[in-house]
Amino acid sequence: MLDIQKIRADFPILTQKVNGKPLVYFDNGATTQKPQVVIDAIAKYYQEINANIHRGVHTLSQLATDAYEESRKKIQNHINAKFAHEVLFTSGTTHGINAVTNGFASILKPGDEILVSALEHHSNIVPWQMLCERTGAILRVIPMNTDGELIMAEYDKLLSDKTKVVTVNHISNALGTINPVKYMIDKAHEVGAAVLIDGAQAVPHLKPDVQELDCDFYVFSGHKLCGPTGTGILYGKEEWLNKLPPYQGGGEMIKEVSFEKTTYAELPHKFEAGTPNIAGGIALGTAVDYMNEVGFENIQQQEKELLEYGTQQLLTIEGLKIYGTAKEKTSVISFNIDGIHPYDIGTIIDKLGIAVRTGHHCAQPIMNFFEIPGTIRASFAFYNTKEEIDSLVAAVKRAQNMLA
Ligand SMILES: *Cc1c(COP(=O)(O)O)cnc(C)c1O
Repeated sequence: MLDIQKIRADFPILTQKVNGKPLVYFDNGATTQKPQVVIDAIAKYYQEINANIHRGVHTLSQLATDAYEESRKKIQNHINAKFAHEVLFTSGTTHGINAVTNGFASILKPGDEILVSALEHHSNIVPWQMLCERTGAILRVIPMNTDGELIMAEYDKLLSDKTKVVTVNHISNALGTINPVKYMIDKAHEVGAAVLIDGAQAVPHLKPDVQELDCDFYVFSGHKLCGPTGTGILYGKEEWLNKLPPYQGGGEMIKEVSFEKTTYAELPHKFEAGTPNIAGGIALGTAVDYMNEVGFENIQQQEKELLEYGTQQLLTIEGLKIYGTAKEKTSVISFNIDGIHPYDIGTIIDKLGIAVRTGHHCAQPIMNFFEIPGTIRASFAFYNTKEEIDSLVAAVKRAQNMLA
């Protein structure tokens, strides 16, 4: 079992007061808080080894390059990628998905099909729509049921030799549904389609094994697993990364440049144009180490208890309805209260120190499906406690009385 008080002491922000009340941070789905070791790693880079990477012969440049490349190897080990050069640093999930959709612009033909799930974040919808506009490919949607689970029988029917790409999140940010991605990847491969997994909401809760999954691409953001903002990873199978053209042109991604012709650098540099977020990339490695030290089994155990307790306690509130009741789900509770706009609840409980997300959670199609403007979303991390859930429930009840 986790020593929660010890864990909480790793996160300086958690001792803060907000609006005069102890902070209860339940917006982990939007971004997680950062442990002191991650904050220190950023400061240490600027204080001790700040220099540009892969360029200088001087000592600091080598130290910075070594630290950055060591971080890449940590992440390679963490996700079990076959090669370090299959692990590309990005600015986040959104960047990673756009790098892939841009690459597919030179591969797809009119009439080719892209399957996207009904549970996606806008980041994993809009770039594919833009790709369809560019190429004449067609976007098809894998539907879900009222529990917020994708319907596999419908997925099977949508797959055909026209399917070139399947894109789906590992875990839904809006509802917490854990999708059957292994099944979906295997089925897609039977028709020769490539699969991108949006792992933004999965990496805070589990350790993905990209070789076991056999996905072609796996993307995530650093800031949702206790790492810095402006960092992320695009994992791609070597053969795909070699096939796709680079996303951005510039320094670092070239082998030779002349005005007549430029040749591109080898992986991973081909996809890493320009000076990256060096401090952030290094600190992302520190975040991954931190999460592994806490241990994903411990994280899952704590979050499972919070989910069960939170669900049970919130359901004691009259008129409260939970959206997202999948059998397999993570520690996210999206809910509404009869006759009250989610924004009003969010505003009142913020005054009581409680941070939740309200709105469509960048997933308007899901809100349209349920015919609601949005939800209140409480998303728990391993450093949250049952006492904090009690505070949430009391605050929601208070808001309900005030608004009734
Ligand atoms: C947060 C999130 C994204 C976007 O991540 P950014 O860090 O904003 O690029 C994409 N997909 C899912 C499922 C997310 O939760």
